[in-house]
Amino acid sequence: HDAVELEALQHADVARLLPVPAAESDKYRRGVVGIAAGSARYPGAAVLAVSGALRGGAGAVRYVGPAADAVIARFPETLVSDRGPAKAGRVQAWVVGPGAGDDAATVAEVLAADVPVLIDADGLRLADREAVRARTAPTLMTPHAGEAAALLGVTREEVEAARLTSVRELAARYEATVLLKGSTTLVAGAGGTGPVRVNPTGTSWLATAGSGDVLSGLAGSLLAAGLAPLDAGSAGAYLHGLSGRFAADGAPVGAHDVAEGIPEAWRDVV
Ligand code: AMP
Ligand code: MG
Repeated sequence: HDAVELEALQHADVARLLPVPAAESDKYRRGVVGIAAGSARYPGAAVLAVSGALRGGAGAVRYVGPAADAVIARFPETLVSDRGPAKAGRVQAWVVGPGAGDDAATVAEVLAADVPVLIDADGLRLADREAVRARTAPTLMTPHAGEAAALLGVTREEVEAARLTSVRELAARYEATVLLKGSTTLVAGAGGTGPVRVNPTGTSWLATAGSGDVLSGLAGSLLAAGLAPLDAGSAGAYLHGLSGRFAADGAPVGAHDVAEGIPEAWRDVV
């Protein structure tokens, strides 16, 4: 059959995608991103996802989960709610899963929302495949190779040896846009039949704990700002890779440094 078209992301394409608020805009028009992440064991995942989301173009970040105190201590601009995703208030896109532990009920509640949803980390394991397929609003899944392997029932090595086939297979099985993280990040549109985007900006300095949590918030924020899932995922990966390069600049960094590099990456792109 036909060779799959691979599209390398270009600076100019990403520049066109990044949301710039109109003169008469307000925070709701820019978009509200909801973050359902973190647990007593992994509160930092919530903080890092929020840190990425705040720098991703949405007008407000709403946090739901057990790490609200840690989130507020670091980012006082975050709106927090203890009423669960369904009753949290206005949200234009959700991020669910980073550090979520075993909270399957929250994942199910987010999947029932009629807005775009990004599923990462523990959320990928907890999400019911039929519930994802039944969604009418877009879904963006962001596994690394190990998470993709678990979803496909194969080994991590098998995913690494067949990354293109794996990302398309997941996009077909879940009828969702899938972003497969790694040294070259691939993004396949829902169904897996269209062209697959390749992100050229990554750096191996991004291989550090919490790095993916920052990406989930960043790409989720772009979803809330109105980007289609393929665009939100690929522009998010592009910015994340660039901010990793700028933050590291040839030396080791932590994930929070990557988040703090996002504005510089954004300015470089636009
Ligand atoms: P996670 O494993 O969820 O923390 O996500 C790791 C993040 O770092 C993803 O955005 C990966 O694409 C990125 N990353 C990990 N290893 C590499 C690498 N060797 N080269 C480029 N990016 C990487
Ligand atoms: Mg991760």
